[in-house]
Amino acid sequence: MSLANGRHYLAIPGPSVMPDRVLQAMHRPAPNIYTGQLVDMVAGLVPDLKAIARTEGHVAMYIANGHGAWEAALTNTLSRGDRILVLGTGRFCLGWGEMAAAMGVDCQIIDFGQRSDIDMARVTEALAADRDHRIKAVLAVQVDTSTSVKNDIAGLRKALDAIGHPALLFADCIACLACDEFQMDDWGVDVMVTGSQKGLMTPPGMGFVFFNDKADLARGRADLVTPYWDWRPRMAPEEFYRYFNGTAPTHHLYGLRVALDMILHEEGLENVWRRHAVLARAVWAALEVWGQAGPVRPNIAEQSKRSHSVTTVSFGPGNGQRMREWMTGTAGVTLGIPLGGVEGPGGNAEDFLRIGHMGHVNAHMVLGVLGSLQAGMTALGIAHGPTGLEAAARVIAEG
Ligand SMILES: *Cc1c(COP(=O)(O)O)cnc(C)c1O
Repeated sequence: MSLANGRHYLAIPGPSVMPDRVLQAMHRPAPNIYTGQLVDMVAGLVPDLKAIARTEGHVAMYIANGHGAWEAALTNTLSRGDRILVLGTGRFCLGWGEMAAAMGVDCQIIDFGQRSDIDMARVTEALAADRDHRIKAVLAVQVDTSTSVKNDIAGLRKALDAIGHPALLFADCIACLACDEFQMDDWGVDVMVTGSQKGLMTPPGMGFVFFNDKADLARGRADLVTPYWDWRPRMAPEEFYRYFNGTAPTHHLYGLRVALDMILHEEGLENVWRRHAVLARAVWAALEVWGQAGPVRPNIAEQSKRSHSVTTVSFGPGNGQRMREWMTGTAGVTLGIPLGGVEGPGGNAEDFLRIGHMGHVNAHMVLGVLGSLQAGMTALGIAHGPTGLEAAARVIAEG
């Protein structure tokens, strides 16, 4: 019997759940784009976005998804024939590299596979071998949303500095900004990209590129710069329309304003990070107990290398897909499909699912997903340790 009627929960790793207040802020007639409230509001978004990225640098806003922010980061810093180092820990950094290659950039790829974070020793080796400094940028994702691994971005900066390599450090924080801790300036990141629809709790459609002065110097030399993606006119424009190189994403901006208020001025960014950390540990606690008597296995074995925003998990042969179907049809929760290449020695794609726990999520939502998963395993006859939900509840109780 279906018990799915009621409020449906889309628990995929983006787009994430949007707060009702964000949606309500967007429900308004078309605003004046030349003067007045909207124009006044946008200048105030810039310092708040920078506060979330923990940077004193710059931000360019785009009407784009994450892929658009990827392309903007590349066009503003690179020239055809430049070499970059792409650090694959899942689908996303490899995808960013494929985009760069299609733009005429020479990509040196180190693929760490589907179950591992970046191995700094191999990065150091590759950088040390690059004696004439042909590598202009190092591309990494903080959280790869396909594998749910979390990479040590500060460690990459240390690796670059330890051998005095001048390459720019790029970080994709699309899956985890305002979920997992990120410190752009302290960690020495030169370019960071993110999007509106994950930790920032706003509909898909805005992309952000944060950059420092060193990256802007590279912009002065880059021959891939194009008029639309150029970040310079968007940095501190005197005319409002230059923020977006055309009509502003009016309604997204109203939604974003409320989302930034909720994160920075109501809950506080560090409390937002702590909430995500506890909710993630609750998910892991359930998975661990279930796995003690059955096939449930998180994709990333080591807890310190797991994201706080998404969890990729195998439920055993073919069971990821069966569980997703049961969850949507019977429990009213839609979980994420496996993405690109999690199959391999640890199983096949249809064994996996991804649980999104990013953005506007709280204890009862996560416990609801975990309780539904436990019911689903019982209904489908998937063996599991019986007290996973209790273990999660204990994590929540202890906070
Ligand atoms: C979601 C995501 C992207 C792609 O963003 P789109 O908005 O779908 O283009 C890129 N990188 C990471 C790490 C992501 O999670």
